[in-house]
Amino acid sequence: RKRFENKVAVITGAASGIGAATARLLAREGAHVVLADLNDNGGASIAADLGATAMAIKCDVSSAADIEALIKAAVDRHGRIDILFNNAGIGSFGTSVEIQPAEWERVIAVDLHSVYYACHFAIPHMPRGGAIVNTASISGMGGDYRFAAYNAAKGAVINYTRALAVDHARDGIRVNALCPGLVVTPITAGAQQLPGLKEEWESRIPLGRAAQPEEMASVVAFLASEDASYVTGTIMVADGGTTAH
Ligand code: NAD
Repeated sequence: RKRFENKVAVITGAASGIGAATARLLAREGAHVVLADLNDNGGASIAADLGATAMAIKCDVSSAADIEALIKAAVDRHGRIDILFNNAGIGSFGTSVEIQPAEWERVIAVDLHSVYYACHFAIPHMPRGGAIVNTASISGMGGDYRFAAYNAAKGAVINYTRALAVDHARDGIRVNALCPGLVVTPITAGAQQLPGLKEEWESRIPLGRAAQPEEMASVVAFLASEDASYVTGTIMVADGGTTAH
């Protein structure tokens, strides 16, 4: 059974990691995917693999104008948006004293404002049965040392997800958040090179390893699918047990 036959899915941060794995999975299950990323070459090469109805659009999610253009392009092409996966994000290392104001503002813009912009412009084009998934993080559930801006942004995405779910339930739109633990993607690759850090992180994961991006894509697909028809406002943790102990 193809869960997403003829569904239109807009995915941000689709050129890499969790977004790319989700674009591939949704397309395999029948979706027309719109891949949005700053890295338009990466998005275009994935889109080329995913068949004629996939398209890639260059977009800086921290720009309201870019998101407005993204949503317009998707609607011009397909007439509606069934699934919105707000996934683009950047990390940021430092305490509140270490981090500079410009970086704080950038992290909040890319990780939080982007979600509002996409919802603001997309929801009017989402029919009943639509689904939004926002990528938060377990860093948004409890402070991770020296991730002040990231913790703040992801915590806000979690509660904003609940607000969206409540506001748009009567429109027939479900909204849920994914909270990954440690996933093997370029965002964590740098930190994983630091001596001992990978081992230290993995020692705190009951399953004993980081996740592969495909293990996040399968959760996103569930939340975006009819299988989750009664699931809205949920914060879905997929962290190998990290926050369970
Ligand atoms: P990734 O670096 O592989 O992918 C992120 C993608 O977002 C990249 O393709 C990048 O070009 C794009 N991007 C960054 N800034 C952008 C912008 N301003 N506009 C448009 N695109 C932009 O990382 P990932 O691990 O797949 O991250 C996806 C999401 O998962 C992020 O929101 C991240 O915070 C979250 N997350 C990741 C982990 C992890 O361990 N990897 C854990 C928890 C949450």
